[in-house]
Amino acid sequence: MPQKVKVKNGNASNANPSWDVNPRLSSPGVFLQDSRMLFFRRWLAFLLAALAWSGCSSSNPSKPAAVLRKPLLLAPVPVRMAPQPTVTNVHPPLAKGSLGVLTNAVAETNAAVPKTTVSTNPPTDAHPHPEINLRNAFRANMPQWVEMGQWSTDEGVRLVSQAASGPKRFELHSNRGDLVLVNGSQTAYWNGQALMLSFAPQLSNNHPYLHRADLQHTVSPLLRKCVCGPHEGKVLVIDPGHGGDQSGSRTVVGKQLEKDLTLDWALRARALLANEGWRVFLTRTNDVDVSLSNRVAVAESLHADLFISLHFNSFSNSEYAGIETYCMTPAGMPSNLVRGSEDHMALPNNAYDDENLCWAVRLHESLVRDTLAPDRGVRRARFMAVLRNQKCPAVLIEGGYLSNRKEAAKLITGAYREQLAEALVKALARHE
Ligand SMILES: [Zn+2]
Repeated sequence: MPQKVKVKNGNASNANPSWDVNPRLSSPGVFLQDSRMLFFRRWLAFLLAALAWSGCSSSNPSKPAAVLRKPLLLAPVPVRMAPQPTVTNVHPPLAKGSLGVLTNAVAETNAAVPKTTVSTNPPTDAHPHPEINLRNAFRANMPQWVEMGQWSTDEGVRLVSQAASGPKRFELHSNRGDLVLVNGSQTAYWNGQALMLSFAPQLSNNHPYLHRADLQHTVSPLLRKCVCGPHEGKVLVIDPGHGGDQSGSRTVVGKQLEKDLTLDWALRARALLANEGWRVFLTRTNDVDVSLSNRVAVAESLHADLFISLHFNSFSNSEYAGIETYCMTPAGMPSNLVRGSEDHMALPNNAYDDENLCWAVRLHESLVRDTLAPDRGVRRARFMAVLRNQKCPAVLIEGGYLSNRKEAAKLITGAYREQLAEALVKALARHE
């Protein structure tokens, strides 16, 4: 439910009592006979009072600068920021929008407070609700939040704010696409497809704010530089999840095994990719158990240019359905889904953060559009051992929920898996 976060204006004289004037200096006392001492004490009192007024108190209780003196709380998610990107305009700056320039004032914000989801279970395909606890993150970590009016002006990105009847939306438009953001929601929409942010955007004094990590690792790459590149002659490694004794999940309808469905999907995709310019390899072509480290080693030995791991999902709540696409969480960001101990260290695959996102968005968009499966978004996580150490762009796709009757009934048909393969290939065959 919405959490009202109110940041009161500080009172500097309370926060800094040492600046208060000693009352003895302005009241009669035994030293009054000494006129030199009296002059000195009055002069000192005037000086201290002037200092107190100019530096530590506000005659205007709504003075925004007072916010800066409020002690900052510890954010619930420790974020060690990676170096900030060099800001270069790729488009001519637009005229300053109606939202104006950055202000430090944070009078009030209504923030949705998602539940914390931290699992210590070993990795499976069961995906609990993937949002993180953002309570107080906005007010506690204000320097990490960026006011979007000024940012969009600086970056030459068009910001459109929409006062809809529901949660306030705002949009960022560039010649690469449109990003729709919703105040208080971690779900954003890139060209209509869902994309999970690490922090829900916030609204303060009618100004939209985004967390710097999301700007750096998601918004900026998408709006300014998301290019998957030409693929002719490049090496694509497709990884059918599970195999052998590692069966994965089982469809609730038809009782088919995940390992067989992923292999079938991969083989269909390989056949369709025969004349699309890629040199295609699979980590397995039959029912064998390949360790996660060997799947990584296979890609490395082939000098892969792209690695795609194929899986299907399963969850205790059979209502869950749809496609999710994962790539590694950039260093310094909280993941959308956490399993085991979380960390914020850079991992080898973080060298490809922008390309990971580019491929994840492209593949996800094609899969959701062509299959009409529910869109569960592009997400970031670190638990995927098959991605962490990849030395090329790498994506893991969960092609549907085997635990959902309606979706399982589709997934056990060859026709639907052919659709999944075709959607994959459409995205891979694009030439821009
Ligand atoms: Zn799996």
